[in-house]
Amino acid sequence: MNICQFKPFLGTEEYESIKSCFDNNWVTEGPKSKEFVKCLCNLMNVRYGVLAPNGTLALYLGLRAMGIEIGDEVIVPNFTFIASANAVEMCRAIPIFCDINDDLQININDCERLLTTKTKAIMPVHMYGMSSNMDDVCEFAKKHNLKIIEDSAQAIGIFWRNKHCGTFGDVGCFSFFADKTITTGEGGFVCTNNEEIYECLLYLRNQGRINRGTFIHPKIGYNFRMTDIQCAIGLSQMDKLEFIIKNKKRILDTYKNLLSINNKIRIIEPINENSNHIPFRICIITLNEKSNKLMEYLKENNIETRTFFYPLNLQPCYKKDNDIKLEKSIYYYEHGICLPSYTVLLDEEIKYICSSINEYFINT
Ligand SMILES: *Cc1c(COP(=O)(O)O)cnc(C)c1O
Repeated sequence: MNICQFKPFLGTEEYESIKSCFDNNWVTEGPKSKEFVKCLCNLMNVRYGVLAPNGTLALYLGLRAMGIEIGDEVIVPNFTFIASANAVEMCRAIPIFCDINDDLQININDCERLLTTKTKAIMPVHMYGMSSNMDDVCEFAKKHNLKIIEDSAQAIGIFWRNKHCGTFGDVGCFSFFADKTITTGEGGFVCTNNEEIYECLLYLRNQGRINRGTFIHPKIGYNFRMTDIQCAIGLSQMDKLEFIIKNKKRILDTYKNLLSINNKIRIIEPINENSNHIPFRICIITLNEKSNKLMEYLKENNIETRTFFYPLNLQPCYKKDNDIKLEKSIYYYEHGICLPSYTVLLDEEIKYICSSINEYFINT
C-alpha cells in the first residue's frame, strides 16, 4: 500500500459545473459567485459575506475592514499556519503570540499578559476541525475592548454551541485551498453580521467602489475577486459537504477504534463538548517520546504523514525572544503527527495505518 497525506475530493460534478461558465461566456464574478456566497451565508447563518482570492487575503481583508492599522497589535495563537500571522503583518500590524490548550486551540488564560495599549484585536484559529472556546474568547474581547477575527480556514462545518465558527466575532475568514474541507483550488470568504464592516469589505475588495462598470471611486480599494469558474466548483463542493463530513466522521471513528488499544499515543479531540469535531487532519501525539521516529517508520511503510505546525515564535522569519510561556505549542509540534484523513480514504487503508502504528510500539 502507498497512502498519501491528502487528496482533494473532486469529480465529474465539478468538471461539468464549470461548463455553464463557458456556455454563458461569463468567467469573472457573476451569477455563480452570488449563489456561492448565498450558499455559504446560509450554511453559517450569517448576514453578509464576500469572496476573496484565498484564505490569507480573506484574513487581510477582514483585518483591514475591522480597522486594523499600522502598529496595532493582534493576538494570534503561536500554533497555527503561518498565514494567520502573515495577514496581520500585511496590514503592517504586529502579531503577538499566545499559547494553546491541549486541544490545540487558543489559550485565553495566556492572553492577559500580552495586552498593551496597542492591542486592538484577537484572532482565535479554529484548528484541525475543532472550535476554539468562543465563550472565553468573546468574554476576553469584551472585557478588554478588542475586535475578534476568527481564522476559520479549517472550520467549514464546525460549530460552537450550535453556532457556526466564524460568526462569533466581528469577522470570520475561510479558505478553499485544495486541502481544506471544500475546495475551489484557491479561494476565500469573509463573513460578518456587521453592516458597516460589510460595506468596508465591499469597497476594499472592488477598487474602492460598490459596483463594477463605474470609474468613480469614493475610496481606495483593490481587487480581491474570485472567478465564476471557481465558484461553480465551490457550489458542487457544497452539494457534497454532507458526504464529505459523513466520511470524515467515519474516518475518525475508525481510527479511534483501531488505536484505542494503544496507550502510547493520544488522538487530539475537543476538550469541550460545545465543539463538534470534523477532522481536518487526524492528529495524534506520541506520549513517551518525540514523534519523529514514528513518522520515519510510517514513511518506510509508504504512509505519508505531516508534522504539526511549527511554532510561530521559532520561525526564522518571526524569530522572537524565546518565550517560555509558549511551551504547549512547542510540545505539540515535537510530539504531533497528522495522519491521512481525506474523504475517500478506505477503512482498509486506515487499518493498515493503525496496524503500522501499533506495530512500531511493539517493536520499540
Ligand atoms: C489554509 C489556512 C490559511 C490560509 O489559507 P490560504 O487559502 O492557503 O491562503 C490560513 N489559516 C489557516 C489556519 C489555514 O489552515
